[in-house]
Amino acid sequence: VFSNIAQAPEDPILGVTVAFNKDQSPLKVNLGVGAYRTEEGKPLVLNVVRKAEQLLVNDQSRVKEYLPITGLADFNKLSAKLIFGADSPAIQESRVTTVQCLSGTGSLRVGGEFLARHYHERTIYIPQPTWGNHPKIFTLAGLSVKTYRYYDPSTRGLNFQGLLEDLTAATPGAIVLLHACAHNPTGVDPTVDQWEQIRRLMRSKGLLPFFDSAYQGFASGSLDADAQSVRMFVADGGECFAAQSYAKNMGLYGERVGALSIVCKSADVAGRVESQLKLVIRPMYSNPPIHGASIVATILKNSEMYNEWTMELKAMADRIISMRQQLFDALQTRGTPGDWSHIIKQIGMFTFTGLNSEQVAFMTKEYHIYMTSDGRISMAGLSSRTVPHLADAIHVAVTS
Ligand code: PMP
Repeated sequence: VFSNIAQAPEDPILGVTVAFNKDQSPLKVNLGVGAYRTEEGKPLVLNVVRKAEQLLVNDQSRVKEYLPITGLADFNKLSAKLIFGADSPAIQESRVTTVQCLSGTGSLRVGGEFLARHYHERTIYIPQPTWGNHPKIFTLAGLSVKTYRYYDPSTRGLNFQGLLEDLTAATPGAIVLLHACAHNPTGVDPTVDQWEQIRRLMRSKGLLPFFDSAYQGFASGSLDADAQSVRMFVADGGECFAAQSYAKNMGLYGERVGALSIVCKSADVAGRVESQLKLVIRPMYSNPPIHGASIVATILKNSEMYNEWTMELKAMADRIISMRQQLFDALQTRGTPGDWSHIIKQIGMFTFTGLNSEQVAFMTKEYHIYMTSDGRISMAGLSSRTVPHLADAIHVAVTS
């Protein structure tokens, strides 16, 4: 019955790794996928994660029973504290409901499905450009996806005017997806001042903020600084959605651990919202996995381990920042034409280089450097050893 089934295309981001794996060249570099690599190009399991796992393994009282539909209670509480801040009035007033979901993607999907069922305005505005999975997640959740201007290719910075115009013209009450920090793929974030203007505009039009927080701690190295945008919206007492991922900041990619929080106007509403979230989750995957959430909860509730985590997180963020400087310097040394200062101005895991798809294809073919065709490179995949090779490739790509 499936003999006529069409071959589906590779995922544009994960497909880069498929092509990379087939390449036999010793020079090959994968800058496609947003996963952290050490200076030696190896995946990193944080020491503090190893420690937490050891504690979990040694604890004979632990069993493998199902978690509740909403996940591990401790994990949920600690996750809300992490993103909204320990002293958040919304938490103190029990106006927040948090459910453990399958990493950032699952949190976005559960939030999207809940909104499609229970929110009066089914339009969600996402930035242009954004992470490639966003439009698919929200469309399949049953929302209607529109975009707002975000990036200005001429400055390789924020198109703040365009953003304000588009949100001003947005359907009143619509949902707006915001990257909490380290916007993917551009690495361009609003300033605190600009966030404040966005907040005021959105609240005045009744637009509902849905934050995607996939890089807390990864942008600046500070967990608090990277959550500031979210906290500004929560501080005004209005509703707010937040999807958290521990993939990057704890290196728990494959454990699929994340959380969806919904800040409501009252504890009573939050309770009813949670009851409906359960109805969304139960027929999708019943309940979330236990291991990753137990690791996160172990680390977040132990102050010593928490401190160790923040140090390891800062070290990852600092290595990425140093890669930006090294790449920028290498292009300066080569006299590569153009202004490359955006490499050091953009933040987070990615640089939106401004290279076009032909230049990307050239660099893959001639230099075995793999990246998405929009010219996005993962700084976390670079090392001091590979920076000169990348700089050579960029130099030739833009001068030939
Ligand atoms: N949102 C953004 C902006 C991302 O970049 C990512 C990961 N690439 C995610 C969400 C979700 O990742 P995960 O499902 O692995 O947590």
